[in-house]
Amino acid sequence: MSSFEYQNGLLHCEQFPLDALAKAFGTPTFVYAAGSIGAAYQAITDAFTGIDTLVCYAVKANANLSVLKCLKELGAGFDIVSGGELARALSVGADPNKIVFSGVGKQDDEIKAALAAGIHCFNVESEAELYHIATIAEAEGQLAPISLRVNPDVDPKTHPYISTGLSTSKFGIPMADALGLYQRAKTLKGLAIKGLDCHIGSQITSIEPYLDAIDKMFALIDSLAAEGIAITHLDIGGGMGVRYQDEPDFPLRELSAALEPRLKARQLTLILEPGRYLVANAGVLLTKVLYTKVNGEKQFAIVDAAMNDLLRPALYGAAQGIQPVKKPQKAATTPIDIVGPICETGDFLAKDCAVDLAATDLVAIASAGAYGMSMSSNYNSRGRAAEVFVQGDQARVVRERESIDAQLAPELAGLNAAFTHSAPPS
Ligand SMILES: *Cc1c(COP(=O)(O)O)cnc(C)c1O
Repeated sequence: MSSFEYQNGLLHCEQFPLDALAKAFGTPTFVYAAGSIGAAYQAITDAFTGIDTLVCYAVKANANLSVLKCLKELGAGFDIVSGGELARALSVGADPNKIVFSGVGKQDDEIKAALAAGIHCFNVESEAELYHIATIAEAEGQLAPISLRVNPDVDPKTHPYISTGLSTSKFGIPMADALGLYQRAKTLKGLAIKGLDCHIGSQITSIEPYLDAIDKMFALIDSLAAEGIAITHLDIGGGMGVRYQDEPDFPLRELSAALEPRLKARQLTLILEPGRYLVANAGVLLTKVLYTKVNGEKQFAIVDAAMNDLLRPALYGAAQGIQPVKKPQKAATTPIDIVGPICETGDFLAKDCAVDLAATDLVAIASAGAYGMSMSSNYNSRGRAAEVFVQGDQARVVRERESIDAQLAPELAGLNAAFTHSAPPS
């Protein structure tokens, strides 16, 4: 069941009506349902009960501290891709031993901070990075726990921008190079080989791409074992899809059934890195219609949220559900595009929606809990939206709406200052 349902003709988040949230906190506002995050986490742990599993939430999907704290309290670890995400996870008291560090461009200070924190594993994405981490760890007198992120060359059949496991993508290490690189890793002083990792893409709706990848991963694990390289975990990444429109529920149990006997036979822990699955449908973007207009054939509702708040429609052509806060009494007459105030034709939130909207109406853009706020920007000097957490009939702000002062502050000091640096002589 969704946490966003109509009660007495008004859309609610759990037991809180969204019109009351708009009145209390203004718009545009991201509204998150704590219960939904808990239910999604539970669905994963239930499906994987037979397997020793560590769920590492992919922080980039939604990095709000209260979201992280909620997941930490449920027992989740974290998959981070930057020093900033490490700091966020640590600031909510995450167990460093449940943190894995992914990403193709880890920098020195990020590697050092992760070593100092004592994270569970670095997911290494290239030969150069492997040597670099080994050098830093040795200099720090540490052992860096590592997995190689291999690229299994499978097509996850999702949007090209979120397909990461094809041989043409920038991610991971080619499968054919992996064994040789593990052998070299074994000889490097600063490293401790822990596991094997992959992440094939995002918003994947069937298990076939995972099965293709898993077959190749287990073949590699067995070749490693034959060379005397033992690992203790297999990380299969994230990517489990959610329902935006009419996608099927992701078949978690089919995936666990395919993994269980093979992991048990090899005494391996499983690591999962779900992002979207845990938070997408736990959030909506609540926005207000400013104006409606008709341009020739086309009808528009201009709302106070825009592509700087929610980039997915513009970036991926993503279609998210549209729910007017007041339940529509009759079917819509003309399809309408819901657009923001930004000066870009790509600034749309939904196209050809079957809803009737008038000025001042409130609308919820569904499934906005993942890759909404975390991809937001200040484009057009718009302040970032507020974020609100709801639990039952209680609500609280978990990120204040960004003020114009907060946007200007980092620039004001430089406005009238003298130049401070001279170019070196040539
Ligand atoms: C983005 C990402 C994830 C999470 O992807 P979802 O589709 O949100 O589950 C997990 N692992 C890595 C390495 C990622 O880059």
